[in-house]
Amino acid sequence: MPAPPDTPDLLLAGGDVLLHDGEWRVERVDVMVREGRIATVGKGERPSTRLQVRDCSGCLVMPGLIQAHVHLCQTLFRGLADDLRLEDWLVRRIWPLEAAHTQETVYWSAMLGAAELLLGGTTAILDMETVRHTGAAFQALERIGIRAAVGKCLMDAHPEGAPLELAESTENALAEAEALAQLWHNRAGGRLQVCFAPRFVPSCSGPLLRAASELAERFNAQLHTHAAETIVERETVLRTTGLEEIAYLDSVGISGPRAALAHCVWVDAHETARLARQGTTVVHCPSSNLKLASGVAKIPELLAAGCRVAIGADAAPCNNRLDVFAEMRLAALIQKPRLGADALPAGRVLELATLGGARALGLEAEIGSIASGKRADLVVLDLREPHLHPAIGDPVSLVVYAACASDVRDVFVDGKPVVLGHELLTASMEEIVREADRCAAELFRIAQPA
Ligand SMILES: [Zn+2]
Repeated sequence: MPAPPDTPDLLLAGGDVLLHDGEWRVERVDVMVREGRIATVGKGERPSTRLQVRDCSGCLVMPGLIQAHVHLCQTLFRGLADDLRLEDWLVRRIWPLEAAHTQETVYWSAMLGAAELLLGGTTAILDMETVRHTGAAFQALERIGIRAAVGKCLMDAHPEGAPLELAESTENALAEAEALAQLWHNRAGGRLQVCFAPRFVPSCSGPLLRAASELAERFNAQLHTHAAETIVERETVLRTTGLEEIAYLDSVGISGPRAALAHCVWVDAHETARLARQGTTVVHCPSSNLKLASGVAKIPELLAAGCRVAIGADAAPCNNRLDVFAEMRLAALIQKPRLGADALPAGRVLELATLGGARALGLEAEIGSIASGKRADLVVLDLREPHLHPAIGDPVSLVVYAACASDVRDVFVDGKPVVLGHELLTASMEEIVREADRCAAELFRIAQPA
């Protein structure tokens, strides 16, 4: 759906523009935005009488960054679940806190997370919510202006230690997921989509996983789950299903270009080859994998095998930032001690956070690079700060190794300004922080940590 016809054209003028055609390159050109899409990338075009010009001199204009694994419902749990391994983190903190969520707390959790993401240059996400109140997250994201594919968390098996409030029958879980899809899929001009999001194999029955795959097919939507995050998970899946996790997920239809599997830390060469054959996306979450002591995903090997790879911060209580610049830098650095300094170069990492993320969302024709006809999801990075100088080297190196979220000056989603001059335009930061703090205190009171 195009933007209303009275929206003036937008010209991002005078910046260095980061383009991708096989390799990254920078050109000093103007980017013209018309009706939510990139109209032209070039020099000197001023065809419209109704034109808003945004001066981008001294800035890098880059594609909006994409995080293909986040949980906005957990943003309120930041700092409430530190220094625990995954299984304890879930049972002692995250599940009790998720069970305490209300419509209101899910709403402000999503607002806080999305504000942090947008201010830090992330324009699109694949988001797994909790079991209940996913409609409230959609309402928040409709208001704040980020692009998102959002899934209600599906769990019909009841893993040890999970609170009863999160238990749902297979039928109820699927019925609510379908109702959400009918209400929210392709809303806000296509900016909002659903995904179908089984939590992970240990909390899902085979029929639930199979039905989620069929719903994704029916609604032309993505599948989003966790896989092979820890050794415990790997062994649990092998014991309960008799199959290795990637083979089991394939057997129930969670595979292929629709599927994004977060983590895949514990996959062997055989499973890596299978993921590559399927065209399944692996979402790398390096901070989360380190903080929960899960391990280091073998991303260079996955890429060498031909796997699709994206990147994500995961969630506030296992990171504790939602900063894509921090994830990119860490993704590049953590492979080097094992495989050498050139193991995962900056340009490759930036592809994970742009084109790789676009593929994970099923939107590779629409977002992920600056090109005529694509949706105008754009980030303007202010290059004035000392840590970005001298600026004579490779701009991709600057973005991946030196830049941080606070360097983001402007953010556009579908050509609409969402952040200008480091300020969020679509909601009051003061209100978000006040309401988020109040809601987090309420949840903490109900779900006292064990
Ligand atoms: Zn996760």
